[in-house]
Amino acid sequence: MYKSGFVTVIGRPNVGKSTLLNKIIGEKISIISNKPQTTRNKIQLVYTEEEFQIVFLDTPGIQMPRNKLGKYMLKISRETLEEVDIISFMVDESSEIGKLDSYIIEQLKSVKTPIILLINKTDKISKDETNQLILKYEKMNMFKEIIPISAIDGKNIQIYIDSIKKLLPEGPQYFPEHMITDKPERFIISEIIREKALESLQEEVPHGIYVSIEQIKERKEKDLIDVHANIYCEKESHKGIIIGKGGKMLKEIGKNARIDIENLLGSQINLQLWVKVEKNWREKEGKIKYFGYK
Ligand code: GDP
Ligand code: MG
Repeated sequence: MYKSGFVTVIGRPNVGKSTLLNKIIGEKISIISNKPQTTRNKIQLVYTEEEFQIVFLDTPGIQMPRNKLGKYMLKISRETLEEVDIISFMVDESSEIGKLDSYIIEQLKSVKTPIILLINKTDKISKDETNQLILKYEKMNMFKEIIPISAIDGKNIQIYIDSIKKLLPEGPQYFPEHMITDKPERFIISEIIREKALESLQEEVPHGIYVSIEQIKERKEKDLIDVHANIYCEKESHKGIIIGKGGKMLKEIGKNARIDIENLLGSQINLQLWVKVEKNWREKEGKIKYFGYK
């Protein structure tokens, strides 16, 4: 009997959801950043073995909605909770359960889907502290499994996969064996550029950028692909920061992104980046659609 199903990893920003998925798949697909809310789209990662297949959905972290984009993200998280076969709720090693975690826990109480609790970043605390945390969550009586992990070290990830396998219903192999994402290259490339921009910019342009890929074109006679992309930001002053003195910042972003894109596509890349101002794009529904958050 073949087993398969959809598994979502939810949790507040920065607990380590993307790190976990990347560790499982072993390839850098889902964006990782030490800034919250960098994963805006549902990214599907597919993990296939002989007897089972897991389709992971990396949903945006649940957050208190502040603007339309926030509301949208909350909505897709809620929808996902009802649709999937298994929910993985990730918390970190903090001993106090914070506001946002309590909020998520309240939401989860009304959901029938089985929940695996992942306590991440246990590399940062002692065994005793880990056990105390497990006890604390056990008392809530709402988790099918509680697994202490370290997404960075890979500790107990196999145990996590095994418990998913146990909970999976009978089902078909949805995707071919070698497929690890259902996102087109275009999306992955834009995520790479966004990741590199966020890394280089530190805290200077908080959350206010969006990358759109204008062109991906192979040059037939050479092993070379032209990639043209726009980086959108909200303010003129941000544009200046992203470009940097004499274009230095943009050059750095472009160079770092190009290396990853070359690895991804296995070809030389000529990457051209432009910076554009699009005021308050986050507030505009139409823009949200335009930018692909359908
Ligand atoms: P997300 O917002 O939940 O997707 O979180 P990310 O996967 O982007 O991780 C946020 C930050 O936590 C990054 O700086 C990671 O390197 C770090 N992180 C993730 N997992 C672990 C872990 O197991 N141990 C430690 N020490 N840090 C981790
Ligand atoms: Mg993430």
